[in-house]
Amino acid sequence: MDYEILRERMVREQLMPRGIKNQRVLDAFRKVERHKFIPENLRNSAYADFPVPIGEGQTISQPYIVALMTECLNLNGQDKVLEIGTGSGYQAAILAELVKEVYTIERFETLAKRAEAILNEFGYTNIKIKVGDGTLGWEEAAPFNKIIITAASPGIPLPLTEQLKENGKLILPLGESFSQVLTLVEKKKGKLEFMDICGCVFVPLVGKHGWSNRYA
Ligand code: SAH
Repeated sequence: MDYEILRERMVREQLMPRGIKNQRVLDAFRKVERHKFIPENLRNSAYADFPVPIGEGQTISQPYIVALMTECLNLNGQDKVLEIGTGSGYQAAILAELVKEVYTIERFETLAKRAEAILNEFGYTNIKIKVGDGTLGWEEAAPFNKIIITAASPGIPLPLTEQLKENGKLILPLGESFSQVLTLVEKKKGKLEFMDICGCVFVPLVGKHGWSNRYA
C-alpha cells in the first residue's frame, strides 16, 4: 500500500473540504506517518475517515477531529502544549511538528510505552511523556500556552484551568460519556470563555477530575 498517496488523499478528501485551512496543520498531516501509530492488523484503516482501536479499549481519533482540534488551538512555534490522553501518540506527533514543546500524559502504561517507542523512532526530541492521571495536569512543567484533552470530560478539570496561561486556549470534548460537544475554552483576564465547535464522541477521561473508573 502506498501510504503517502493515502495521506495526501486524507488531506484532500477529509480535511480540506471540511474547512481545515491552516497550511502548517495540513503539512503536518501530510508528513506524520499515521499508519505507524496503528496496530499492524488494522493499518489498512489508518487513513480512513473513522476512529481506529489502539488497545486497552481506546481509539485513535478520526483524522478530521485531530485536525480540527489542532487548528482550533491556533498553535505557533513558541508554544508549550499539554496533551491529556497520549493514546497512540499520533496527536502528540502532529503537535510536535507545530510547537516548541509537547507534554503528554497517558493513564495506561502499555499505551504510553508504545507511543514513546514510536515517537523516539521518529526522532522527536520535543515531546515528554508521563504515565498518570492527566486531570491533575503536569505541575512541574506548567504553565502551558495551550492544552488539549483528547478524552471526554464531564467538566474542565480545575488543575488544568490553573495550569493554563493567561490568553491560553484549551480544547476538549465536554459532556456526557457517550456524546459531547467539542469546546474551545480561552482564559481572558483570568476568566474562562467558552465556544462550542461541534458534536463529537470520545472515550471517557477517567481520573480525579474526570469520570470515575466505573465508566472506563
Ligand atoms: N490523542 C490520542 C487519542 C487518545 S484516546 C491519539 O492521538 O491516539 C484517549 C486517551 O486518553 C486514551 O488512551 C485513554 O487511556 C486516555 N485517558 C483517559 N483518561 C485519562 C487521564 N485521566 N489521564 C491520562 N490519560 C487518560
